[in-house]
Amino acid sequence: MDRRSFLRSCAGLGLATACGGAPEPQERIPGETLALHREIPVFDLHIDTLLWMRWLGYDIAEAHGNPLPRASFFSHMDLPRAEEAGLRGAVLGLVINPVEVEPELIAPLRWLARFERGSGLEQTLATLDLLAAEAERLSDRLVFARSGSEARRAIESGRFAGVAGLEGVHGIEDRLENAAAAHARGLRMIGLVHFQRSAAAFPMTEPAFDDRGLTPFGFDLLAECKRLGIVVDLAHVNSRGVDDALGALRQPFVVSHTACAALQPNPRNLTDDQIQRIAERGGVIGLAVGRSFLGRPGIEGFLDHVEHVIEKGGSRAVAIGSDWDGAIVPAEGMEDVRALPHVTQGLIERGYGEKVLRRVMGENALGVLTEVCG
Ligand SMILES: [Zn+2]
Repeated sequence: MDRRSFLRSCAGLGLATACGGAPEPQERIPGETLALHREIPVFDLHIDTLLWMRWLGYDIAEAHGNPLPRASFFSHMDLPRAEEAGLRGAVLGLVINPVEVEPELIAPLRWLARFERGSGLEQTLATLDLLAAEAERLSDRLVFARSGSEARRAIESGRFAGVAGLEGVHGIEDRLENAAAAHARGLRMIGLVHFQRSAAAFPMTEPAFDDRGLTPFGFDLLAECKRLGIVVDLAHVNSRGVDDALGALRQPFVVSHTACAALQPNPRNLTDDQIQRIAERGGVIGLAVGRSFLGRPGIEGFLDHVEHVIEKGGSRAVAIGSDWDGAIVPAEGMEDVRALPHVTQGLIERGYGEKVLRRVMGENALGVLTEVCG
């Protein structure tokens, strides 16, 4: 079966199970809340739709349903649903196959690396070109934004702002000059590591690396990112690596998709001490919607994490970093991007005012991009 027919059968299955796995309809949200939500430049620090666009030919311009019974690990975002949800832009993740697969790489990515042609820098540049081509094809709806200001201008013109962010430096094959090559093609965020050790850092998901922090190349890369104007992303980086980065970073940064270990002991989540230190250093923490990140089910579970980061790090440290389309199973009520107006409503119900709402839903994320990339 080719990729397109696979996707078509998934979509057919979605029709058959359309009653399962969608956020509540917007009609339940008061009109004034929806109006406020639509005024905010809602922005997500991490959505992986590019993976499915590259892999399955997923068309971001078409409305998709949930392709699997009850809960799907992809098909969470497309432009029609983003428009409906008031989602105005996102950092779109580049999930790239490593040239050399290490033993700790998780099975689905190991499988993907075996199945797909291309890896490393070649695939990174091809994926950046794919985003550029899609932005050209859909020029009235999608902008490939190369800075925070470009993202804001796209949003003001009513178009979706896509910023490119790489997951793991294996995507630049461990060379500083490749970071510059990817930057020239539009890359504006680099995660130091994904699910296997990189030349820069070690993943938090592999306990054998707990005592290893950033490598000399990792430190050099932080300096190169500052020089080029690339946001550094500490998602997936282990605790020693985060400590090293906090001591060495000379620019604002993000942890693009994570949650709070105090509420849910997932190795991918941040401890209170980390949240505090990241916030003190001007970092922005994107909160993910995956069930395994959140613990308490439903949208209230997600809101608990937002509230917790605000308590520990202040309202300037929080953003949305959903990880939609990142092969996660979203929490109930957060099945796709249409959950976002309900997050705004939930924050209002918890007593947060407009200033905090704006920060959480988009301003903090856009602020980091603008400070670092212009
Ligand atoms: Zn990730």
